Parts: sequence; C-alpha cells; structure tokens
Amino acid sequence: MKSIFEQGRAGRRGSTLPQPDVPPAAAIPAALRRRTPPALPEVSELEAMRHFTRLGQRNMGVAANFYPLGSCTMKYNPPFHERLAALPGFAGLHPLLPQLRHGAALTQGALAVIYEAETIISELLGFERTTMQPLAGAHGELCGCMLIAAYHRDHGNTERKVMLIPDAAHGTNPASAAVAGFVIREVASDADGNVDLADLEAKLGPDTAGLMLTCPNTLGLFDPNVREICALVHAAGGLCYCDGANFNAIIGRVRPGDLGFDVMHVNLHKTFATPHGGGGPGSGPVGVNAKLVPYLPVSIVQKRADGTYALEYECERSIGYIAPFYGNFGVILRAYAYLLTLGREGFIRVSENAVLNANYIRVRLAPYYEWKFNRFCMHECVFSAAKQARNGVRALDIAKALIDRGIHPPTIYFPLIVPEALMIEPTETESRETLDEFIQAMIEIAALADKDPAAFHDFPLTTPVSRLDETRAARHPDLTA
Ligand SMILES: *Cc1c(COP(=O)(O)O)cnc(C)c1O
Repeated sequence: MKSIFEQGRAGRRGSTLPQPDVPPAAAIPAALRRRTPPALPEVSELEAMRHFTRLGQRNMGVAANFYPLGSCTMKYNPPFHERLAALPGFAGLHPLLPQLRHGAALTQGALAVIYEAETIISELLGFERTTMQPLAGAHGELCGCMLIAAYHRDHGNTERKVMLIPDAAHGTNPASAAVAGFVIREVASDADGNVDLADLEAKLGPDTAGLMLTCPNTLGLFDPNVREICALVHAAGGLCYCDGANFNAIIGRVRPGDLGFDVMHVNLHKTFATPHGGGGPGSGPVGVNAKLVPYLPVSIVQKRADGTYALEYECERSIGYIAPFYGNFGVILRAYAYLLTLGREGFIRVSENAVLNANYIRVRLAPYYEWKFNRFCMHECVFSAAKQARNGVRALDIAKALIDRGIHPPTIYFPLIVPEALMIEPTETESRETLDEFIQAMIEIAALADKDPAAFHDFPLTTPVSRLDETRAARHPDLTA
C-alpha cells in the first residue's frame, strides 16, 4: 500500500475555501516565514478518505476481530455509551467552570455523574468510599500504595517499608509499590496456583506495610484462601490491597471489601466498558474501607443535605492531588452509563459469562495445550505451549499463526511463572460460535505444530509486513514502509 505522500499529484487539494471577505491580518514577518513549502500530501478529499478507510481496515480490533488478550479484557463496548459521552452538555463542559454562578448550577450534572458512579462502584466493591481520580489501573495502584504509606505514617509505623507481592501478581504491582517508596518482597505460589501460605507467614513481620494480591491472579485463578491471607497480613500489622483490574470475573458475586481487603482498584476501561488500547484514556478508581478514607486524594465529590453536589478540597490528611480536575471524566461517564444499562442482574451475568467462556475454552483446548491445574479458572485460562515448543513451535509462533486466521493473539509470555504462556481471555461478550471458531483454529494450529513445525517461522503471511526482526524493528523502525 502506498503511503499518502506517494499518492495524488502536485497542486491537488482536498478542500477549497472561499476567498476571505475581510482584510488579511498583518503579514507574518519575513523572518518567521518558512522558506520551502511544507511537504504535505497533495490528495483529493476522496483519496484521503479511501486512504484512511483502508488503513482502518488493516487494524485488528474488537470491532472486527476476536481479541482474547489475557488480562486486558478486550471486550465489546456498545457505541451507545459513546453517544452519551458525546452529548454536548458533557462533552463541552470546561473543567474550570465554577460549580455555581449567580445561583446557576453549572457543573451539577457532571458532579452528580461522578458521585453516583462512585456510589454504585463502592457498593459493588464493598467499600466505604471510592476515589474516581486515578487515570489508569497502575495509577490506581500507585494511589492505593500512597494511601497505605499515609496510613502507616499517620500511625507512626516508620519501620513498615515492605510490600509483599505474590509471584502471580500483575507486573504493574511491584512497579507501583516501588514508585510509592516500598521495598518489594516476593511471595511464592504453591502447586495449585494459590499463595503459598507457609511462604507468606515466613515473610510477614514488623517491617510489613501490606500485601498486594491480584484477584483473580494472573493465572486466572481465584485464591480460595483469600480471607485467611488478609487475616494473616492484618495480624502482622499490614494492610491488604486488591488488584481488581479484572473485576469482570467476580462482579456481582463477591465484594472484595467483605473478604478483608482494605483498598482496591478497578479498571473502568476493562470491566466497565471503555474502548482501550494504545495507551488511550483509562480510569482506575480506588475503593477504601473506613481506615483509609481520611487519606483519599482530592478532590472528593460530596452530596449536601439540599441534594446539590460540591467538590471538596479541604481534607487535612489527604495524600493530595494525583490527577487534575475530575479525573478522566469521559471514561467515568461511559462507565456510569454502562452501570445503569446493566443493573444488578446484568453484573451477575457479566461474571457468569466471563467465567463460563474461559472454562469452555479451557476444557476444549486442554487435550492440545498444557494446562497445569486441576480446577476451574475464572475469566481467563493460561495454557503453556511447552509441548509445542519442544517441537520448535513457540508461543510467539502460535500467536502469529492466529493472525493469519483473523484472530488477535492472546497475551503471550505472561505471566512469567508459566513457560511459553498463552493467556487467553475470551471476555463475557463473545458468543459460543466465535469461541468455537477460535478453538477450531487453535486445534488446527496444534496439529500443524506436530506435522510441520518449520511452516510456522514465516507466519503471518496475510499481513502487510510479515515476520519482523523484532530487535531491529525496535532499534531502527521504518514507519513509512
Ligand atoms: C491491566 C491491568 C493492570 C494495569 O492497568 P492499566 O490501566 O493498564 O494501568 C493492573 N493489573 C491487572 C491485573 C491488569 O489486568
């Protein structure tokens, strides 16, 4: 495909503007004028439209392809919520508008959205309050770690510097805890994929600040000892953090606050439906129990006795600002619409279908790919391509073979504790027929890996660029070829 610079013809224009009917402004000083014309594409409007439409069709996204990217929850997000987010009263709101001006409530609608979204999410998580400020999942983790640090500082626990993190945690957990100033200590998993309780007890002590548990963990498993884990950490004087980025696995069925967690984040852009990827806007609200409420970041939306809303900034023990204005308001708004669309029964069906879909894949693919555990999984199932790798076909090769079949690859080589990991998350929005097509593709790939492993080394064959030298692509990227 030609780049847009190689299309069109010198002098061709994509738009025409009427002659100005006002006098031109003062001429731009000669010293500031460019000497050569800008090298812009010279194409017609139709050529530009076709170019970008074709580029868009080359994109692999949820709107066109099954996208079982483990941990990332690439589910379908109904465009209805986009329309609500685009309503002029919301989209045109300026974050610096005063809340009340001459008796007119300028931002009351937006504050009501934040407050009500917070109220529903607090109820779902089982927490006292939730800050809607964090701008991503990892940002929520950082906020949660800062809350834990503030709590210990406030209680004179100067020696509590260690954050315990199981080896089945998401990779952002140790990073966030380290940025918040904690020393990381890893806790091992046992043979069933749960936290090794003996190892946990050995690592608890007077230096324990807390523990961050990814729940369900990155093996897609729900740790049945979670209450006991929280009790052990509390008995040692620490606080418990729940990484609930993948809350779609348990939403409506269990409230992490009831299990003993003190603080938790959820990803609105995973569980609560916002298109994501490419580092786009996200939101990682953090729920806390009563112990941590005094330290929540500002601002906090409060509801007054007369039913109006106010942004509160005067919180003496707050950790302060972590984000400007209202957080990522557009994402909160979409999530609020989604919450109202689903309702209580809808949430239960989300977790039901997320878990059912993953287990369907687990059972159907277990004869072909290694699955280490003898138990149900939650929203995702993590296979190993170790069997295929012994024949020279690695997880990466399987991922590339899927692209040729019109399927986005699953997450590979994560979690790190599974060699040749294939981390498959079908999400709750996919149909049985789509899952069957994926399963069929994976079975065919397993058969080809037995018969003709060499065939894999050139996959994908159907894409504009085939197998890349990944190191060279990173070091010397050619972005126009
Ligand atoms: C996605 C994810 C995160 C990080 O969320 P970001 O919004 O990408 O920062 C953290 N933990 C888990 C388990 C996740 O799946």
